[in-house]
Amino acid sequence: MNPSAAIVQDQFLKVLSREEAVARFRAALQLRPLSAETVGLDHLAGRTLAATLAAPVDAPPFDRSVVDGFAIRAADVAGASETGPAWLALNGETIACGTEPRVAVATGSATPIATGGPIPRGADAVVMIEHTRFEADTGLAVTRPVGPGQNIAFAGSDIARGETLLRRGTVIGAREIGMLAAVGADSASVWRKPRVAVISTGDELVPPGAPLRPAAIYDSNGPIVAAALEENGCIAVRFGAVPDDAVLLEATIREAHATCDAVILSGGTSKGAGDLTYRMVEKLGEPGIVAHGVALKPGKPLCLAVCNGKPVVILPGFPTSAMFTFHDIVAPVLRILAGLAERPEVTVDARVPVRIPSDLGRTEFVMVALSRDQDGAVAFPVGKGSGAVTAFSQADGFLTIDALAEALPAGSAASVTLFAPHLAMPNLSIAGSHCVGLDAVISALADRSVTARSLALGSLGGLAALKRGECDIAPIHLLDPASGLYNTPFLSTTMRLVPGWRRMQGLVHRAGDSRFAGAASPAEAVIAALADPDCLMVNRNQGAGTRVLIDGLLGGRQPPGYWNQPRSHNAVVAAIAQGRADWGIAIAPAAAALDLAFIPLAEEHYDFAVARETPNPAVALFEAAVGEASEALRALGFTPVAGH
Ligand code: AMP
Ligand code: MG
Repeated sequence: MNPSAAIVQDQFLKVLSREEAVARFRAALQLRPLSAETVGLDHLAGRTLAATLAAPVDAPPFDRSVVDGFAIRAADVAGASETGPAWLALNGETIACGTEPRVAVATGSATPIATGGPIPRGADAVVMIEHTRFEADTGLAVTRPVGPGQNIAFAGSDIARGETLLRRGTVIGAREIGMLAAVGADSASVWRKPRVAVISTGDELVPPGAPLRPAAIYDSNGPIVAAALEENGCIAVRFGAVPDDAVLLEATIREAHATCDAVILSGGTSKGAGDLTYRMVEKLGEPGIVAHGVALKPGKPLCLAVCNGKPVVILPGFPTSAMFTFHDIVAPVLRILAGLAERPEVTVDARVPVRIPSDLGRTEFVMVALSRDQDGAVAFPVGKGSGAVTAFSQADGFLTIDALAEALPAGSAASVTLFAPHLAMPNLSIAGSHCVGLDAVISALADRSVTARSLALGSLGGLAALKRGECDIAPIHLLDPASGLYNTPFLSTTMRLVPGWRRMQGLVHRAGDSRFAGAASPAEAVIAALADPDCLMVNRNQGAGTRVLIDGLLGGRQPPGYWNQPRSHNAVVAAIAQGRADWGIAIAPAAAALDLAFIPLAEEHYDFAVARETPNPAVALFEAAVGEASEALRALGFTPVAGH
């Protein structure tokens, strides 16, 4: 590499601020809609008008009646009443919709007319049929006066020829299609949708639906990016997942660049072995890469390029990072090319109930779940780590913490960018300790069309959220060591307890571990474990209900493994099953799932704290669903509390 090439590459290795990266990217692009195309009425829904449209004709095209009745001259019925009706002679034609009138309405006469019928010459008003009476020998009695022009829609009163019908930039929906049809337009000029190539890269990627080879993972980014493109007015052109093969990759990228308006790649930006993507993009066209490395968390490896006027973006490989960077930086640019508003109407102003720490110097994205309290939307942070694609299931969108902020303080206002154009708030928001049994209750609720979202905040976190009115239900399992009671001692006066179920806690070890062969009780098992200095325990985190039980069993002793303190039952049984530890305390269903031996210790109470007064009717349905789920709960190894 010659020295100047080294300098150029150095420049690309430099991490830019989000603002600088966005500015460079946008400066290199022509930020305007691509071009216009004419599209037929039946395919216009969702498209954006490229030109302002004037009405080519009057609507309605003629004066017409808006009621069923008689076309008359208003002067003939002035002063008419029930007792002193005005008498008119009927003309010899009836005007239905679509009938052209032939007979003029002369003084003293009336012509029957239907709603939508054209007003005949000479008439200046329509009297409703309800205000008339017909008598064979004397003619039509009109019992109420009408003013001139009454019950007539005049030509062009809806829209007059030459008036602006629809403005450029309007996103067309059923209403707009109705307006176009009413003036006889069978097509309109709209912005062409950008065709955007989607390429996933990585030797490890397998398309969903195919069997997973060892060490492979499914390609999530391809489908995510394609769907997000469609949601933002673009056409996704899928190129599949390409292995980290220089020849194959270059051919694919070149074809995509030649045939599409923009190219979105993912993976291969972190400059590790096999990460070739950015080197291919470098060669694609001028000016090339404008930012490689952006001070984002997650999303630092983002690579932005413009090659011969077309945006070429390499999103980070981790799906959540890909999603954040796409929505924050790429989607606004593509929306402009599609003729849409830069930011869709998908931001929600929300309050953040807890402090969110953040790295200084990097713009940080935080996934949040939205719920409502009496003051408006509340955004809870969810999901940890850019690799956790499942966090999407709990999240509605994300918020952004400025690079210069060390944290977002509790109570801050934040703007949440939604992942989808429509926000469907759950009917019921549950926050607290999670239990697989809860999934059975949520399923029973779903059968009643009640949507519930459960956030794992821990028992104390759930109670705090309930106290602040940010959730409807807080599942808890808290043992008060002083009273030996579960849950009730932790309720405030404004809360009540909905009984849930009991979960048997016990000492867990691998079946066939001879060290525990003679132990009939957890206490005996602990003695057996302590007898062998190689026997490793796995503890639980401080504050967990289970930890209280463990401390009781150990009586102050700290055997090997004591400092391994994971936060869930599943982590405890996984450690024992995988041989990283030999014994621990966990609930029976978790132990059974991994075929571990289980010596019962104590029943834990898993109940639900709810507000005594709640405006949410779904809470009562939740209580009913707990009862309905009792069979499913038993099947899972739980004991529902009698009374359901
Ligand atoms: P890379 O930038 O290629 O080093 O990828 C970073 C991480 O993201 C690795 O763990 C990849 O396996 C993962 N990854 C890359 N592309 C995808 C994809 N399309 N779907 C899911 N995970 C991906
Ligand atoms: Mg890769």
